[in-house]
Amino acid sequence: MIKITMKTPLVEIDGDEMTRVLWPLIKEKLIMPYVDLKTEYYDLGIKKRDETDDKVTVDSANAIMKYGVGVKNATITPNEDRVKEYSLKKQWKSPNGTIRAMLDGTVFRKPILVNNIKPTVSTWKKPIIVGRHAYGDVYKNAEIFAENGGKLEICVTDKNGNVKRETIMELNEASIVQGVHNTVSSITSFARACFEYALDQKVDCWFGAKDTISKIYDQKFKNLFDEVFKKEYKDKFEKSGIQYFYTLIDDIVARIMKSEGGVLWACKNYDGDVMSDMVASAFGSLAMMTSVLVSPKGYFEYEAAHGTVQKHYYKYLKGEKTSTNPVALIFAWTGALRKRGELDNIKDLVDFTVKLENAVIDTIEGGIMTGDLAILCNPKAKKVVYSEEFIDEIANTLNKKM
Ligand code: NAP
Ligand code: MG
Repeated sequence: MIKITMKTPLVEIDGDEMTRVLWPLIKEKLIMPYVDLKTEYYDLGIKKRDETDDKVTVDSANAIMKYGVGVKNATITPNEDRVKEYSLKKQWKSPNGTIRAMLDGTVFRKPILVNNIKPTVSTWKKPIIVGRHAYGDVYKNAEIFAENGGKLEICVTDKNGNVKRETIMELNEASIVQGVHNTVSSITSFARACFEYALDQKVDCWFGAKDTISKIYDQKFKNLFDEVFKKEYKDKFEKSGIQYFYTLIDDIVARIMKSEGGVLWACKNYDGDVMSDMVASAFGSLAMMTSVLVSPKGYFEYEAAHGTVQKHYYKYLKGEKTSTNPVALIFAWTGALRKRGELDNIKDLVDFTVKLENAVIDTIEGGIMTGDLAILCNPKAKKVVYSEEFIDEIANTLNKKM
């Protein structure tokens, strides 16, 4: 069989722990038998980031800006425990935070539905897509521990030397403080990205924030969404028969729980981080959530929404087999390869990614799955498998389709 040829390399960004164990298996067993895989590899494993003083993370983001499409594995964001565990020089910043700050953009997370796993929320019939703003807020903050308290002010000096200053609080005791920002251009492109995605998927777009409490910050989000919508999207939405509305985040949460799904829920950065995990878990498993960063500059980064599955990795290190679910990682690869195929006009590559995704779904719907899915599956799973066996089963299903 002749392998599918690629024109432009895909930026391949490797990560840590259990997902690092699964990564080469996915490539070797599911992709490389059919595709003459061309990638530019960046190792964002925690040791390499530490060795390079995190330069490798910046290099990988620059590579995505050079080639346009990347696929990223899950990576450890070090906390105090990780610094000890891996003897790190310091608590490096979140690689996702660094990459997203460079690319800007919005992360769209969409659950993969299969007919033998019903969502926990009984009204949900269609996917709920979370559109997470990927720039700024708490992910690009400055923080101080003020052990003696003090006068806490916020101050901006513009390029002409004009100063705006506000007192936040007179702190009389040890306190923690944090400064965050966002930019009008990033919020505007967040709004555009969400409206474009809603049109593409033909689903309503709901946006929620807290403008009643945050009368400048969150209100600006609300107003910019409104302006972009009225100027550029109102007519297109009417023609498509879809709607946009804004309401308070608490109200959105309540509406989501009662909806039948089939909506794009636009979320500020932190809300999207947290809510996408809730949505993913309620649809079945964190491992069934796809995630893509769409940058306003035309770059795409595909990843899994879950982390490095640390607990499973510790079992793996002890020599135990684990039933870690590779589906979201596989869909990160298919998403990235499909986008590469579309950009480079390689129809065979696009078709291949659809076949691989269908092979994954057919395998699960045929009753073969990892443990996280087996506990939710109805009718009962026929065969509960370890990660590598599951990848082999998918490879068999795929082989029949090719
Ligand atoms: P996690 O890796 O998402 O795992 C949390 C739990 O969810 C697991 O213990 C497991 O539950 C379940 N789970 C997640 N993915 C699964 C899969 N593919 N198959 C089966 N079960 C799965 O989150 P974490 O343990 O809190 O974080 C571990 C590390 O990942 C941290 O260092 C964090 O910084 C990093 N992280 C990275 C990213 C990213 O790079 N995108 C995102 C989040 C977290 P059971 O144990 O019950 O089986
Ligand atoms: Mg999260």
